[in-house]
Amino acid sequence: MIAHLFNAPLGESEAAVGVGTVGSSEAIMLAGLAFKRKWQNKMKAAGKPCDKPNIVTGANVQVCWEKFARYFEVELKEVKLREGYYVMDPEKAVEMVDENTICVAAILGSTLNGEWDTPIHVDAASGGFIAPFIYPELEWDFRLPLVKSINVSGHKYGLVYAGIGWVIWRSKEDLPEELIFHINYLGADQPTFTLNFSKGSSQVIAQYYQLIRLGYEGYRNVMENCRDNMLVLKDGLEKTGKFTIVSKDDGVPLVAFSLKDNSRFNEFQVSDLLRRFGWIVPAYTMPPDAQHVTVLRVVIREDFSRTLAERLVLDVQKVLAELELLPPKAVLTTTTAVTEEVAANNGVGGTVVTKKSALETQREITTIWKKFVMQRKKINEKMSGVC
Ligand SMILES: *Cc1c(COP(=O)(O)O)cnc(C)c1O
Repeated sequence: MIAHLFNAPLGESEAAVGVGTVGSSEAIMLAGLAFKRKWQNKMKAAGKPCDKPNIVTGANVQVCWEKFARYFEVELKEVKLREGYYVMDPEKAVEMVDENTICVAAILGSTLNGEWDTPIHVDAASGGFIAPFIYPELEWDFRLPLVKSINVSGHKYGLVYAGIGWVIWRSKEDLPEELIFHINYLGADQPTFTLNFSKGSSQVIAQYYQLIRLGYEGYRNVMENCRDNMLVLKDGLEKTGKFTIVSKDDGVPLVAFSLKDNSRFNEFQVSDLLRRFGWIVPAYTMPPDAQHVTVLRVVIREDFSRTLAERLVLDVQKVLAELELLPPKAVLTTTTAVTEEVAANNGVGGTVVTKKSALETQREITTIWKKFVMQRKKINEKMSGVC
């Protein structure tokens, strides 16, 4: 069903193959391994060295690609971003491709053609269950001949609880046979190509149930609803006049926004104060070369209703009003104090005694938390990455 959804050629002689995984991360490890092995076989056959594989991606990729590169010893060549352009620039990606490139990994939305005929993997973790329903005319999938494999998370827009992902290969030829293990002690020949062996079947059943219960129409309704609620939230945030909307209306239904003016208070403070209303809206900096841009991000899922969207706008307004009441100098002092305290790393501060407001208490908690995170970071420098 999923191969069909992604327009895999499913003729008499051709058949897509695929496997269920724990999520897109495992799916991506498997797809990456298949590319690496295919490339190695090709280089060996040509009598060329095959010890320096690389993979070309955008700097906007999810951390699992960095994991794949590090765990399976493949050099990660990242196309840098720039302000206002937050996807992989296809022309720059093509420039980075060479004969050691095992594949180009594009997040759904970016498509390209490499002069090396380099195969493409599409990371459609979220988009794979969105585009087929609300952008059916968008050609991102197996309709493009260079796309050899695609992954999607069942537990994102596939509408299943956590623990399920999928990877599909265009044809059997794209998945080297030597990576598949055949076992026969469970009653029949069972091919297996996964990183894990035993795993629960409930998620697979849940995915199957959702697909046949909701059908194409059902999924389309859910995705349209997500998009509508995204627009309600986006319009509400725009109307405050304080934010620049960084995300586009098309694509994954999410709103990424940053403050037009962050000289008095910044996105991290907005995020901190929103926690008081029960919202966890992450603020984070963009990947290289757009690190100077900080955004707040809200991803709209099927359970984020219009009422919730409206309530979030109201709470954002309250937070903005509160932050605007602060005299600019006080904000500046606090920020400096926070920085100093973190730098000192042993909490010498607190010499000036003043009556604490709820806001100050909140900020104190944030400072302690920040300090904790910074210390953890110092202890284990190897711990990096987001998501
Ligand atoms: C979430 C995500 C992943 C990782 O997927 P999991 O299912 O969490 O393992 C990979 N790539 C992209 C683009 C994602 O959004």
